[in-house]
Amino acid sequence: MWQGVIETYREYLPVSDRTPVVTLQEGDTPLLPASNLSSFLKTDLKIYLKYEGANPTGSFKDRGMTVAVSKAVEHKAPVVICASTGNTSASASAYAARAKIKSVVLIPEGAIALGKLSQALIHGAKVIAIKGNFDDAFTVTKKLTSRFDLVMVNSINPFRIEGQKTGAFEICGQLGHCPDYQVMPVGNAGNITAYWKGYKEWYGAKKIKKLPVMLGFQAEGAAPIVLGKVVEKPKTIATAIKIGNPASWEKAVEAGQESKGLIDSVSDKEIIEAYKLLAETEGVFVEPASASSIAGLRKLIKKNYFPRGKSVVAILTGHGLKDPDRAIAEIAKPVVLPPDIEVIAKEIGLS
Ligand SMILES: *Cc1c(COP(=O)(O)O)cnc(C)c1O
Repeated sequence: MWQGVIETYREYLPVSDRTPVVTLQEGDTPLLPASNLSSFLKTDLKIYLKYEGANPTGSFKDRGMTVAVSKAVEHKAPVVICASTGNTSASASAYAARAKIKSVVLIPEGAIALGKLSQALIHGAKVIAIKGNFDDAFTVTKKLTSRFDLVMVNSINPFRIEGQKTGAFEICGQLGHCPDYQVMPVGNAGNITAYWKGYKEWYGAKKIKKLPVMLGFQAEGAAPIVLGKVVEKPKTIATAIKIGNPASWEKAVEAGQESKGLIDSVSDKEIIEAYKLLAETEGVFVEPASASSIAGLRKLIKKNYFPRGKSVVAILTGHGLKDPDRAIAEIAKPVVLPPDIEVIAKEIGLS
């Protein structure tokens, strides 16, 4: 039986016999070949989708949270706290519930998707909406943590990065080798940091013979790394990456440079197109932030960035059901008809 990322990768993680393992059996997510998408994009790239929305709370945050909360329990922390655009709070509150400790989450008022808010609430977190954006919530959480006995479980917590690097191990295991390229969204930049660390460790352990090229994508209205300066008022429909001053900024730049990749941005329009495209061509429903992977991939294909016959893994960070309002807003509403066989058959085009 799959036992979650800590048991599976124990020797590569900062845990010992004294660490109580708090797990929801996260990880082991699908790596789907996406040939419909390749045909649609008229590319011979072998595209794979790493569907992290299939984690227990619906995002990759669970990989890091199992380690962060396990270590918090090991160190007898009574409370974990985070600032969140949604998914960190969903994950922290679920793992804290399982560990029987308290969780506090600070979210930007009115700016997180409904599915994520419902998760934090149902798991019993103390949810505080901050009058401000994510960056304001993050700053105040850091200040609280320095004054009170709280463990912060944002990705500046190194145990989060440790857990999340297992995504790279898993991809290499599933593929049987290292992919040529990886595309992913960049928000607070913890995940690109974690993947790059994971690939380098796997290379160091001689599990793979090379490293991938890392390609990270921010949303155009929230692209501090691309612009090279803090964005005071980030704007994007992709709320999970609506961040103006990423905590792991330098590490993300490093991952791009060391791997000979890049950090670029995609517009909300491109994100929404990719969001629909993925759902329609591959049956994979992700939240808008995750679709920035595919939007970025598409942008680079159009620029003839990729040599022939390469493989690329797109990290799909969160599940589409997190933000159902967005899907409904983007697609035409269903037609309303009477329960009449003739009328319905005509509408379907059967008669
Ligand atoms: C957290 C999150 C991101 C951004 O990840 P970072 O580590 O902050 O760069 C992207 N997509 C989803 C769905 C997320 O929850």
